[in-house]
Amino acid sequence: MEIDQHPYADLLRKEMMPNIWCSSCRIGRIKNTFIEAIQQLGYDPDKCVVVSGIGCSSRIAGYLNLDSIHATHGRAIPTALGVKLANPELKVSVMGGDGDILGIGGNHFLALARHGHDINVFCMNNFGYSMTGFQHGPTTPLGARTITTSSGNPYAPINPVSVALAAGYTFVARSTSAHPYHLIDCIISAMKNRGPSFIEILIPCMLYERRNKIKSLEALFLEKAKIKETLSEEDINQSDFMKEISLGIFRDAPVRERPHLSLVKSGKRKAARQYDVNFKPRASGIEYMQIRMEGTGGQGIVQGGKTLIHAAMNMDPKLHSTLIKRYGPEMKGGSCLTDVLLSSQPIDYPFVDVPDLLLMMSDIVAKERGDKVIVNNDGTIVVDESMVNLRLLANLPKTVKVFKIPATQIARENFRVVVANNVLLGFVCKVTSVIDKDCLKAAILKSAPPGTEEMNLAAFESGYKFGSS
Ligand code: SF4
Repeated sequence: MEIDQHPYADLLRKEMMPNIWCSSCRIGRIKNTFIEAIQQLGYDPDKCVVVSGIGCSSRIAGYLNLDSIHATHGRAIPTALGVKLANPELKVSVMGGDGDILGIGGNHFLALARHGHDINVFCMNNFGYSMTGFQHGPTTPLGARTITTSSGNPYAPINPVSVALAAGYTFVARSTSAHPYHLIDCIISAMKNRGPSFIEILIPCMLYERRNKIKSLEALFLEKAKIKETLSEEDINQSDFMKEISLGIFRDAPVRERPHLSLVKSGKRKAARQYDVNFKPRASGIEYMQIRMEGTGGQGIVQGGKTLIHAAMNMDPKLHSTLIKRYGPEMKGGSCLTDVLLSSQPIDYPFVDVPDLLLMMSDIVAKERGDKVIVNNDGTIVVDESMVNLRLLANLPKTVKVFKIPATQIARENFRVVVANNVLLGFVCKVTSVIDKDCLKAAILKSAPPGTEEMNLAAFESGYKFGSS
């Protein structure tokens, strides 16, 4: 009843109450300031998404009555990026702690600024990993006691504001849980900024207080913090709650124009025009098809899988598709395979179980399996006979169709060995008729490095011609 009457009730998941936070924790206050900001901005809650990782503050996502994702540890930012890319109209915010965002997810934190997407990162800094008993993290003060630094933290902490500024966030601010009205203003400004935004929010944790014999971190925040209208470079470093903390907006910049990929794009367009490859999309008739390309790292196995998937999409844009690649530990020269699934229905498991179409460019994978070739009993194998010991195919059921081409030999004698994968694909195109020729050629042109288009297409044509003979 009381929750129903609360002004934030509409944006709270009442069924999740009471929350799990300690009674003196201030994460709930941050949750409320976020709700207040959304209400003041008048944003449609259906257009707001919150993504969090793991930790005390990451539990916020579960209590907000918004579409939310509780992602894995440190992966809130890439998950949020997926949401934003899928629907750019959404207002996407990441909420989490210093350990999750700056420690485990530190590289994602840097990458978001570089990529420049309009996502807000609200980082509650309580100076360590609190949910697991308080281990030290990237922001733990020098000398602070935690369960992993019982004699005092010997490592200098990072300064989140300084890192965000250096990384290129277009909005950067610092506030605390003890300054809720200031924090609401910061959140509103961050959400209005059209680039990657970051707010460091200092919050107390009673585990830290107890272990370091501090009566109240909030009292220290109130005593040591100053809200400033204009901030100097010196203020970036004023973040020590034992001395002085500068709060405010360090950067609120217009979004930079993204660099253009004009060189690459024009090259591709030129190539497409030059080779005059036109294809018409059509219904493929494919219900569910498992394709595997296997061989040795360096043979273009993954590229071959990508070409197949792009070609299938060129042919039938309604198809669903996935691609998984697997390397042996050695990468180049070791085993490598690519699984491609094509389906008329959404795909929920991206691995090929038993391939309907198996493309073997070498026998290394089969040998690793104890000389076993895995293919559907009604399936098809296309083999590069210059690289595969055909003895391995001797015991296959008679129902399996086998097509052979010396793809590597053809490539070596006429082009370069690196295009053997396209010789094989040309042959596959002719003998299996799974994917239209022009759709495959367009896919090859899409990925061929500038200047190699002609050779790659010629390699494909030579494989196609071999299949016609
Ligand atoms: S452990 Fe610390 S951060 Fe976690 S809920 Fe308790 S006071 Fe809050």
